[in-house]
Amino acid sequence: MAESNLIQRLSGDERIELFRAVRESVGIPYFRVMESATAPIVQVEGADKIMLGSNNYLGLADHPAIRKGAQDALDRFGAAVTGSRLLNGTIDLHLELEAEIAAWHDTEDAIVFTTGYQTNLGTISAVVGPGDRVVVDAAAHASIRDGCSLSGADVRRFAHNDVAELEKVLQEPLDGDGAVLVIVDGLYSMEGDLAPLGAISAVCQRHGAALMVDEAHSLGVFGARRTGVAELFGIDTATDIRMASLSKSPSSTGGFIAGSRDLLDSLRVNASAFLFTTSGVPAAIGASLAAVRLIRSEEGAQRAQRALDNAAMLRNGLAHSGLDVSALSPLPAGGETVTPIVAVHIGDDLAAMDMWRQLFDRGVFTSAALYPAVPRSGALLRLCVMASHTDAQLNRAIEVIAETVTQAAA
Ligand code: PMP
Repeated sequence: MAESNLIQRLSGDERIELFRAVRESVGIPYFRVMESATAPIVQVEGADKIMLGSNNYLGLADHPAIRKGAQDALDRFGAAVTGSRLLNGTIDLHLELEAEIAAWHDTEDAIVFTTGYQTNLGTISAVVGPGDRVVVDAAAHASIRDGCSLSGADVRRFAHNDVAELEKVLQEPLDGDGAVLVIVDGLYSMEGDLAPLGAISAVCQRHGAALMVDEAHSLGVFGARRTGVAELFGIDTATDIRMASLSKSPSSTGGFIAGSRDLLDSLRVNASAFLFTTSGVPAAIGASLAAVRLIRSEEGAQRAQRALDNAAMLRNGLAHSGLDVSALSPLPAGGETVTPIVAVHIGDDLAAMDMWRQLFDRGVFTSAALYPAVPRSGALLRLCVMASHTDAQLNRAIEVIAETVTQAAA
C-alpha cells in the first residue's frame, strides 16, 4: 500500500518553522487566553493589560444596552437556532436587523450572514463566475481573496490603493459579455489607511465596473451616519455592494450586505455561505440589533468622535516619540484623518514578536502583524483604540511602547 505524503510535506512549511522558532524563544503573540470581557483593561493569563489589540472601536462589547440585547434574545429564543436561514434558522430578530441595516444604509434591502468572512465568501462567489473578472486591491482582506478564488472568475490584483494601476487593469478587454467587479476595503486593517474611494468609484464608473466596498473596520466610525468610508467620500449610492462585519464596532458576530433588492434576492437563492450554514445565534442577532441602533444614535456619534480623538492622541504621542507610525489618510474635502487603527512599523518579523512580548510583559496588549498578513520585511505592531480608553490608559501605553521600540532600535 502506498503511503500518503500529505502530513509529511507540511514539515517544510516556512510559516510552521517561524511559528515554532518563536514559540521556543519569546513565546507566540497568538492564541493568548483572555480572562475577562473585551474592555480597555483586560485580564490576560492572570494579569491586567491595556487592550490595544481588539476591534472594539466604539467600546460597545461590554455596553449594558448591547448585553441586554443579547440577553433578551437568549431568554426568548434560547442558545441556538439549529438550522440555516433557509429552513428553520430565521427568527424575527434577523428580519428586524436586516430592515434596520437597510434603513440605515438607505438601500432597498440587506441580508445578514453568520460571519463577516462568510459574507464575503458567499457574496463574491455568488455574483461573479467564469467569464467575469474581479479586480481586487492587493491588501484586500483574506475573505475577499478567498471569495474571488472560489468564484472561478478571472482574478486581477492592483497595487494597494494605486488607482492608476486599477484603471490600467480595467482597460484590459474582457472576452464575451462578462461583468467586471472591483473590490476594496474601506479601511485597511493592517496599515489603518483609508481607500481613496472617490477616485476608485470614478474609475469604476468610467469603465462600467461594479464596485464592492468592505466596511468591516470603518462601519460605526466614518461618515455622518457612520455607515463607513463610502459615505464619507459621498459615493455610497454609487457603491453596488456594501459589505460590513458585525464583529467589530457593533461588537457582536455576523456580517451583512446592503444593496438593491435584485442583488439581495440573488444572494438569498445563490450564496452557498448564506444558504448552507447555521444562522447566527439569537444572542448575536440581539446584540447586533442593539448595537446598530446605538451606533445610529447621538451616543454613537459621540463614541465615533471619541474613537478618532483617542486614535489621534495615540498616533501623535508615538510619532512625537520618534516612532514610524502609519500615515494619515487624505479626506475627500481636503485635509487628513487618523483612523482607529495605528500601525507602528518595525520591519523584521522576529524583532516585532520580541517587542510584542516585551509590551505584553509590561501590561500592553498589541497585535503583531507579520508576513504574509503584511508584505515581507513589513512587520508591524498594530494598535486599535476604543472610544472607552481613558487618557491615562493611552498615555501609559504611549510611554511603554515608545520606550520599548526605541530601546530595541538602539
Ligand atoms: N473583512 C475584513 C476587512 C476583515 O478585517 C474581517 C475580519 N478580520 C472580515 C471581513 C471578516 O469578518 P468576521 O470577523 O466578522 O468574520
